Amino acid sequence: MEKNKIVKINCKSALNKLKRKIPYGWDLNIYRGCSHNCKYCYAIYSRDFTGKQDYSKVFVKTNIVEQLDKELSSPKWNREIINIGGVSDSYQLVEEEMKIMPEVLKVLIKHKTPAIISTKSDLILRDFDLIAELSKLTYVNIASTIITMNEKDRKKIEPNSSPGLERFKMLKEFRKTNASVGLHTMPIIPCLTDSYLNIESICLEAKGSNVHYMLPGVLYLRGATRKVFFEFIKNHYSDKYENIKELYKKGGADKSYKEKLYSEIVNPLREKYKISNSYIKPMKEKIHKN
Ligand code: SF4
Repeated sequence: MEKNKIVKINCKSALNKLKRKIPYGWDLNIYRGCSHNCKYCYAIYSRDFTGKQDYSKVFVKTNIVEQLDKELSSPKWNREIINIGGVSDSYQLVEEEMKIMPEVLKVLIKHKTPAIISTKSDLILRDFDLIAELSKLTYVNIASTIITMNEKDRKKIEPNSSPGLERFKMLKEFRKTNASVGLHTMPIIPCLTDSYLNIESICLEAKGSNVHYMLPGVLYLRGATRKVFFEFIKNHYSDKYENIKELYKKGGADKSYKEKLYSEIVNPLREKYKISNSYIKPMKEKIHKN
């Protein structure tokens, strides 16, 4: 990643307490901004410190490991689940040189703290041994968002992520650990990734990777994301622009579209391939063993 796109900052706290437990109570993001550059990114709003809509910079919280250790050393720390990478991917390009995640994992191991790690990069395999070690001590969930098996589309929609097949290979590897493994098929993009063929290819790979669960979700558009997304569709899929616009009069897609998608495609396919949609089941099983 270009040096002038990386900005080093200090954070006052490593953990961010969430208002609602969903089912985790804390978020940890090493980076602000994300070089994967997904065109539907819900966190685009969080990248713009400048007010000039310069989304290309990535801010690195250089003191996050020391800060996390301090926070988890507190007698008040209750070993709740920490969600890692909810706002920016912890294994995005810059992590290859910064190597902060291995240090974060060592702190989690030291404090036996459970974690959910979501990523669209197979760089996470670099930290396989540390994650395997943590998963022997406490609950760990490894999740990846995969929305298309069409590489041409993936390169346009999520340009700097790993190919879908690589992500499935990565999930399969983590099945060898004690971690639970999940697939997030979200967002399903109307007119673009919502075909029976695409969802079936995803389910087939999910079955082959033996994921514990699959969570589907339809695209939601708001604020800066809406603007960036429609600009992208206009430039790269102009033939679909009007149809998508018609479905998105509000933030969520038209209700009847969603009902049809779930009842005719998503749910029948999930059932056909016998893939659970519950992440709670593996979580309960693993948490109770600790
Ligand atoms: S990986 Fe996540 S945070 Fe990064 S650009 Fe894509 S949607 Fe946004």
